Parts: sequence; structure tokens; C-alpha cells
Amino acid sequence: MTIDPQHSVKSLMSHTFSATDLEHHIAQLFLAAGSSAAEAQQVASNLVMANLSGHDSHGVGMAPRYIDAILEKNLIPNSQVAIRVDSGMLLGLDGQQGFGQTVGVQAMHLAFERVAQHGACIMSLAHAHHLGRIGHFAEMAVARGWVSLHFVNVMARATVAPWHGGDGRFGTNPCCIGIPIGLGDHAQAPFVLDFATSRVAQGKMRVAHNEGKQVPDGTLIDEHGKPTQDPGVVVVPQSNGAFGALMPFGEHKGFGLAVACELLGGALSGGGTWHRQADGTRAVYNGMLSIVIDPKALGTQMSFAQETLAFIDWLRQSPATEGTAGVQLAGEPERAARQARQKNGIVVDDATWQEIKQAATQVGVTL
Ligand code: NAD
Repeated sequence: MTIDPQHSVKSLMSHTFSATDLEHHIAQLFLAAGSSAAEAQQVASNLVMANLSGHDSHGVGMAPRYIDAILEKNLIPNSQVAIRVDSGMLLGLDGQQGFGQTVGVQAMHLAFERVAQHGACIMSLAHAHHLGRIGHFAEMAVARGWVSLHFVNVMARATVAPWHGGDGRFGTNPCCIGIPIGLGDHAQAPFVLDFATSRVAQGKMRVAHNEGKQVPDGTLIDEHGKPTQDPGVVVVPQSNGAFGALMPFGEHKGFGLAVACELLGGALSGGGTWHRQADGTRAVYNGMLSIVIDPKALGTQMSFAQETLAFIDWLRQSPATEGTAGVQLAGEPERAARQARQKNGIVVDDATWQEIKQAATQVGVTL
């Protein structure tokens, strides 16, 4: 996302942490809120990995909302994934309102067992609390040499307007595709396409609002359906008590993909679709349809590996256009951010850090 580089007093105040220190702080919150030590650590490490990957929207800034959801009893610490349907390649799972960071990983491991047996798995996961960065799951699959596709819906206050609609009707419904590139000694870093179907992620509006920044034209409409550059319209209730909305990416095509994510991630998984007014609760549930394929089982492992390498090489030969660093592949910006932030630390803006400290006091911890 390009954010207007204007500075404000708010944006000047920030805190820099090493990944390990930040993980330690955040794990304390979840431990105090009732998670086992292992769960607290897993959730904290997943959130910090989102920060490391450059997606602060899905990083530790989500922790206060998770704590609110636990206190509301809508997010249930230590829940395990339950198997609803298990028929070979098909798995129907229920996240039982557990942390997406744990039940999502459990669900992927169950899917991987089926891929090892049958060559592919179609897995649906309903009623998981926020799954965080969906690319995390695709990265687990590509690390095994497998292709993975994910369609996700978001059950929380509707923040995205339909194409040509004037208010929020659904969530930022992410879509993710992971593809391994090459094989064995010739493997290259994988393609991991992972994005919200809104022009920008809702969490990025929270970050921009906390930093006192404006966002580009065409990103948002206000509570009256009029274009605006103020991210606050989707973060805090406006004068009439209503919120503005994010626009879908890619005009009618992105809108279509968002609807597909709602129907596949929500309706097909059994988790449900969003078709009601918000009730003010803080929980965010995700439904996810995942498809994992072993190219070996399709009989194309060798040609697939060669073709992925050949095509990526072909793309990289495209000359860079003026003012750009040239062609990048999905997954590269995240890997570059990880390197940089591991070295330089993770910057958390002051407003987000104050929210985290406030959440900590809610569960009796002083950070
Ligand atoms: P984004 O707009 O930053 O796009 C990210 C994708 O684009 C990545 O695959 C990245 O590698 C690729 N990319 C970025 N710059 C590129 C370039 N120059 N060339 C080629 N590829 C490039 O991401 P977003 O839409 O803000 O989403 C951020 C995260 O939010 C994602 O991880 C998503 O899964 C997550 N999300 C989660 C939920 C949820 O409810 N769990 C909802 C929405 C979004």
C-alpha cells in the first residue's frame, strides 16, 4: 500500500523491538488470558511473523482485539480443531472458535496427511477465529513442494462495499495461492500470492489511522458513500454512528473474487456468510476452503518444476520500467521485509503499543 508520506506528531512516536522481545511481550498477554504456554507462544510468534513479513496490519496490533474477543468469550483459548467429515481427500473441519493461528495450523497438518495418502486434499475449516496472514498456510504447503489455494471469508463487521455499492456488505476476504518453483537442487523461492480482496487490508487502515496518515484516492468511501482519504472512517464510528467502507480491488473483477471467497470460505465450509448488521462484538471469525495438490500425484512433477523455473526466468527478463526496481514475484516483498526487520527490528507505532499495553492491563499484566 502506498500511504501519503505526510508526517504527523502521532507518526513520529514509535517503539522498536527485536522479534524475540516482541514475541515474549505478546505471549505474556495470551498466557494471562488463559492460553497454554505453547498456544500463547504460537499465536505470538505468528503475529510477530506478520510484522516481520511487512504486514503490520496482521501483526501484534491485532492482539488487543484478540484479548477483547477472549473476554467476550467469543474466542476460546486452547480450542482444538474438530473433524466433521473425513472421507479420504475431503476434510470438513471446525475450528471451534479457537485461535486461527493454532487451529489453522492443525487443519493444514490434517490436510497434509491426506495429501501424503491421496495426492491432494480439499479441506474446509469453519468457525476459526482470525486466521491472520493466510500466506502462512501456503508457506507450510510450498515448503513440502505442494501447491496450495485458499479462499477465505471474514465474519465480522462488514467493511468492504460491493462494486457500485455505497456501504460495507462483506469483509476483506483474502485469497492466497502458493506455488513451489523448481525442484530439489534447482528449487527457487516459492510464489506466494496472498492478498485481501479489498484495495487495502482493513488492518492497514487501523495502522494508517494510528499513524495519522491519509490513504490514496479510490481506497475508501465515507459513511455517506462518498470518496474519502481518511482511514478513520473504517476504524472509528462516524458522526451518524455508521462506518465508511473499503473499496474492492480490481473493480468488478476483485468484487467477484471477494464474493467467491465468501461463498467458498463461508457457505461451503459451513461457517456461514455475513448478511446482517454488526452487533459490536470484537471477535473475527474466518471460514476457509483450502485445496492442496502434490504435483507428483498429477504425474507432472518434473515438467511442472521445469516450467515454473522457465516461466519465472522469462518474467525476470522483462526490462524494469522507469522508477521501479523491476519485476518482483509474489512472496519476494515479504522475504525482503523479513531480512530487513530481523536485522533492524520491528517498529510499532505508539498508538498501537498503547493499545497493547492497555490490553495487557485488562488481563492483569504490566508490559
Ligand atoms: P498486499 O496488498 O501487500 O499484497 C500482498 C501480495 O502482493 C503478496 O503476495 C505480495 O508478495 C505481493 N506483492 C506485493 N508487492 C508486489 C510487487 N511489487 N510485485 C509482485 N507482487 C507483489 O496485501 P494485503 O492485501 O494488504 O494483505 C495483507 C495480509 O492480510 C495478507 O497476508 C492476507 O492474508 C491478510 N488478510 C487476512 C485476513 C483475515 O481475515 N485473516 C483478511 C484480509 C487480509
